[in-house]
Amino acid sequence: MDANDKCGIFAAYDSKTAARDIYLGLHALQHRGQEGAGIVLSQGGNDYRVHKDLGLVTNVFSEKDLRHLEKDYCGDETPTFGLGHDRYSTSGEVTAANTQPFVATHQDRVISIAHNGDLTNAGQLKESLEEDGSVFSKSSDSEVILHKVIRADGGDPIKQIKQGLEGVKGAFSLLFMFSEGIGAVRDPNGFRPLFVGKRENPETSVGGTSYYFASETCAFDILGAEMIEEVPPGGGYFVSEDGLETFDISSDTSQGLCSFEPIYFSRPDSFYNGKSIHKTRVEMGKALWEEHPVEADLVTGVPDSANSATKGVAEAAGLPNEITLIRSHYTGRTFISPYQSMRDLKVKKKFNLVPDTVEGQRVVLVDDSIVRGTTMKNITQMFRECGAAEIHIRIASPPLTNPCYYGIDIPDPEELLVNRVDKEDLPEFFGADSVEYLSVESVRETVGEENCRACFTGNYPVEVDESERFTKDSEDTAWDEAPQANGVGPGLTHIEEPSDADL
Ligand code: AMP
Repeated sequence: MDANDKCGIFAAYDSKTAARDIYLGLHALQHRGQEGAGIVLSQGGNDYRVHKDLGLVTNVFSEKDLRHLEKDYCGDETPTFGLGHDRYSTSGEVTAANTQPFVATHQDRVISIAHNGDLTNAGQLKESLEEDGSVFSKSSDSEVILHKVIRADGGDPIKQIKQGLEGVKGAFSLLFMFSEGIGAVRDPNGFRPLFVGKRENPETSVGGTSYYFASETCAFDILGAEMIEEVPPGGGYFVSEDGLETFDISSDTSQGLCSFEPIYFSRPDSFYNGKSIHKTRVEMGKALWEEHPVEADLVTGVPDSANSATKGVAEAAGLPNEITLIRSHYTGRTFISPYQSMRDLKVKKKFNLVPDTVEGQRVVLVDDSIVRGTTMKNITQMFRECGAAEIHIRIASPPLTNPCYYGIDIPDPEELLVNRVDKEDLPEFFGADSVEYLSVESVRETVGEENCRACFTGNYPVEVDESERFTKDSEDTAWDEAPQANGVGPGLTHIEEPSDADL
């Protein structure tokens, strides 16, 4: 399993520890993006403070940075609201400039944005904005949204968000920071998750309640906040001094959350649709076994993303759930390495076999998904070398056959294993005795009827013009760029970095 995926977004409204709340929220959402992170903060008015850079949350924000954000800022005022972003690019280059939140000022008004998702008509929108005089400084489609919203009728942030999002298509879970407060919106299909939560907090400036928005509910737990609800597809929230207001950006909606969220991306301790992701995965594992049982001695899974599905398979099979693989958490990213040889080596660095666990055993080996087949091929080979008697691969999702245009990084269709190797040749390809996948029908039953399954079926719920997508550059060239993203907002004079002695 590799945890390089789409973005994580988090916002806090009315907390005197907003910087730290957002930091903790982003930390809990780190699995959703490891390329870069950023936080923008305000205490109202048009002053703001932003800090962002390439890297993990713990690298981007030192204690000194957090102090700087929350203390040495606008005189004695403590910023009480803001938003943050963990980035993993599905469009646009990996540069500090593309690291979010994005902040823009227009006619004395400051708006910040954090986006999770991928637009399907970004190119078209960008073209018409450019014809109208907009100038773009980044290669991320999220900047298009910022331009559209900032150009929409000002005054009332809700009106501005609604008008700005007219004609924007595809996947967008969005957080906005205005001088009045925080807005949160989900696209009409709700491709990417977004939740609203709250906690009673004596450290507020107004009402004794702090509000939070997060990509996943696991980010509320770390703050002791409780989930109020999922932001509904096509729905929005705005939280300000007047409290929490709801609004709609569309009435034509569906519960189209990406099925890959519960299959792989979301953390097992997050909630979706009234149950934990862990529970959904256990159900998938059970369904997988019911569809494809086999005579075996033990069940084992690829840590960590297959742990819950493996439990389901083992329970349904009535077989021991053996720990055979130890995962190193220090190997970095395997999935999007540009060369196969690099991906193979990284899988070897990532997983090691526990001695004497598979020798002479008929093993059921479970993973959540197969993309190119690199992970499974290497693990199967390891099991063979250690004397496994039989290896039966069971995958807790259907074969990935199509690209995702709604915010998940899936390689070109021709790189996907099942588009390269016929189903009956898969055991030979892996050196396994059998290879079986969960059916699309079982995903529908365990996740939900309306959820997006386009990567398995090719049925895209929102029309996509491929030519309109931004190009995704390889990570290697892009990581060379120097950080250049921090700064102060209008109304602020230059602020000296605090010295170590101040901390
Ligand atoms: P592969 O080795 O190419 O077959 O990729 C499959 C492995 O990568 C599985 O162990 C998955 O947990 C994980 N995975 C699946 N989809 C993604 C993705 N979009 N990004 C990163 N890792 C993924």
